[in-house]
Amino acid sequence: LNNELDKLEKLKTVSELAASISHEVRNPLTVAKGFLQLLKEPNLTDQDRTHYLNIAVDALNQAESRITDYLTFAKPSLENIKILDLHQELIYIEKFIGPYAAMNNVQIEVQLEEDIYIAGEDQKLHQCLINIMKNGIESMPQGGKLLIELRRVGDNAMITVTDTGIGMDEEQLERMGSPFFTTKDIGTGLGTMVVYSIVKTMRGEITVKSEIGKGTSFSVLLPLAEISLS
Ligand code: ADP
Ligand code: MG
Repeated sequence: LNNELDKLEKLKTVSELAASISHEVRNPLTVAKGFLQLLKEPNLTDQDRTHYLNIAVDALNQAESRITDYLTFAKPSLENIKILDLHQELIYIEKFIGPYAAMNNVQIEVQLEEDIYIAGEDQKLHQCLINIMKNGIESMPQGGKLLIELRRVGDNAMITVTDTGIGMDEEQLERMGSPFFTTKDIGTGLGTMVVYSIVKTMRGEITVKSEIGKGTSFSVLLPLAEISLS
């Protein structure tokens, strides 16, 4: 964890980050605008028209995902704290991520204990776990299995997400979580930064194990709420 906290300490200041994000968002918006303007051309073939529209939509998707990743990071404060039933929350998240998994030939398997409660903000928890699961799914371009586990470990809840994907080497593991580190063509390199930031505000810990060609396992340890301790 110290290593992860170090990474957060080393983050650029928020204003520097905001400046680079606005740049990261402006670029795809400029692309989208340019291709939408091309559509005004009267003598376009249907093929060109579709091509320009696809480019514009891709660029807008890129801008959107950059903003989504960033806004969660920029506001990591824990307002609206509620008691969350993790079994229920994980079933909700599994349903949410299901179509994306199916689209990528990934089978989801769940092993969830019941009666595990934490205090936290449901949307932040969702964003954090969805970012981890999305990465797991994206690490399996030929399909595979995503295992989602929930169990109680002492006074903590442990959520583990394991994929059978491409895995990471030492250097990748080290760099993961730094802003803009991505190995994907249209990645933002912000997803795991948001994950670490949310887990930190929830006073949790993250452990990552990975092996090239075998897969990756993300474990999030979160302190239980009083209700499940009694
Ligand atoms: P992005 O998904 O946009 O690339 P992230 O911050 O979510 O940004 O992830 C950063 C990088 O960490 C990814 O590009 C990938 O190289 C690596 N990574 C994260 N999770 C996994 C995983 N489950 N398997 C393999 N690589 C991963
Ligand atoms: Mg990601």
